[in-house]
Amino acid sequence: MHLLSLLIVCGVAVSLQISSYQKNGVRRVGVSLRMNEKESGMKLEARPVQSKKQERRRIVGNKDFLRSESDFSAEEKARVEEKLLSHMKSSLLENMKANMYETTKGEGNAAVTFRLAKEWGLCWGAERSIELALAAVEKFPDRRKHITNELLHNPGVNQMLKDNDISFIEKTNDGGKKFETVQPGDVVILPAFGATLAEMQYFDELGVTTVDTTCPWVSKVWNVVDRQVSKDMTTIIHGKYSHEEAIATASFCKDYLIVKDIHEAEYVCNYILNPGSTEELSKDNFMKKFAQAMSPGFDPDIHLKKIGIANQTTMYKRETAAIGKLFEATMIKKYPEDASDRFAAFDTICDATQERQDAITDMVEDPDVSQLDFILVVGGFDSSNTAHLVEIPHNKGLTVYHINEADCISETNTLTHRLLDGSIVTTENWLPTDRPITIGVTSGASTPDAYVEEALERVVLLKAAISEDNKIAA
Ligand code: SF4
Repeated sequence: MHLLSLLIVCGVAVSLQISSYQKNGVRRVGVSLRMNEKESGMKLEARPVQSKKQERRRIVGNKDFLRSESDFSAEEKARVEEKLLSHMKSSLLENMKANMYETTKGEGNAAVTFRLAKEWGLCWGAERSIELALAAVEKFPDRRKHITNELLHNPGVNQMLKDNDISFIEKTNDGGKKFETVQPGDVVILPAFGATLAEMQYFDELGVTTVDTTCPWVSKVWNVVDRQVSKDMTTIIHGKYSHEEAIATASFCKDYLIVKDIHEAEYVCNYILNPGSTEELSKDNFMKKFAQAMSPGFDPDIHLKKIGIANQTTMYKRETAAIGKLFEATMIKKYPEDASDRFAAFDTICDATQERQDAITDMVEDPDVSQLDFILVVGGFDSSNTAHLVEIPHNKGLTVYHINEADCISETNTLTHRLLDGSIVTTENWLPTDRPITIGVTSGASTPDAYVEEALERVVLLKAAISEDNKIAA
């Protein structure tokens, strides 16, 4: 039962939310007050603990912390499978796979040939995450369910979760989140890219049931971080400091620095070798440059003497490898006597990311690439792994369009798509009307095939409608 009342306290509108729920046979009541006049959210800070690794293990060992398929019954899983079949799969893409990854639709000038990358689309980690979230819906039909963030970076998947009665904990414009909307006894789903230690502690203390869908590849990175912490190493994370996965990984580090690309890594390595030798390499400049990407109290003169590499799992693999090698060479140069004690790197980029990057690389390096009019990449605009799939053909000088859903394709022959700099633009007359075309296709690791099929069908319909021979016939 939930009651909502609106009060006026000192002239400020306040929502009073009262919820009652049953847990372990005991009825409890939760109360929350919410100020309505501005968007302020809670910013959680982790409670200090002796060992973050032990704290994480303690929380995940709780009986109300569910994190594997075995936590759900066969009936619950069967109902999830039914939903997945109707919302996620694509017979078109499966048929293409069975037919040398190619299919042609339409005739004459309206013909469209699609050539699919040999590895594409929803990875097992993302699929597992969706399955666990939907299993939570089946297991707890009468309890309020929240997710701490987008489950994956895909608008269709997130809408599907909303349609299944899962609410998203809102972000506020001051950088916080409305955690107060979660009440004891609710169900909280953690997304595929994980949650911070502070969030895990908060929900543990609040007394919710947690369904953790963190991808095991992400957990693997956290295990690597644990080892680096135990060796008193600073973790250099190859990632984007504002990305949820990098934020979660950083929360398990002791000291960390996040570098987004090889250029930032080169700067840090130059600093290690020649600190303060130029204005550019001054400590002040370093601190400004990485102000948002370092642990509290980070001092480059203290914390870059012993380092380990970790990465956001969806970064561009070759760049991660190059960054690791660069730091290794730098530490050998700086500390020739004992560099092996001062540097550690583990391969933590996930197979799914690598396989999709390799497949699009094969496509753009194939001698037949000149037959392609352009490459269409389908995936969330916030999706890091999708952006890397776009980079590969772009860097080869090919035309590539990144769309996040079929609705990007309009019947007036305009396309709304994302450029690599993050801007969303509209291109007019993107499909030629006077000849058949061939399109290379791939999709990000968080994009179900059904959404790709929807986009390809939209292309076929549009091409049929605008092609010259059809117009003449009409
Ligand atoms: S891309 Fe990799 S790390 Fe991310 S969910 Fe998929 S398998 Fe896991």
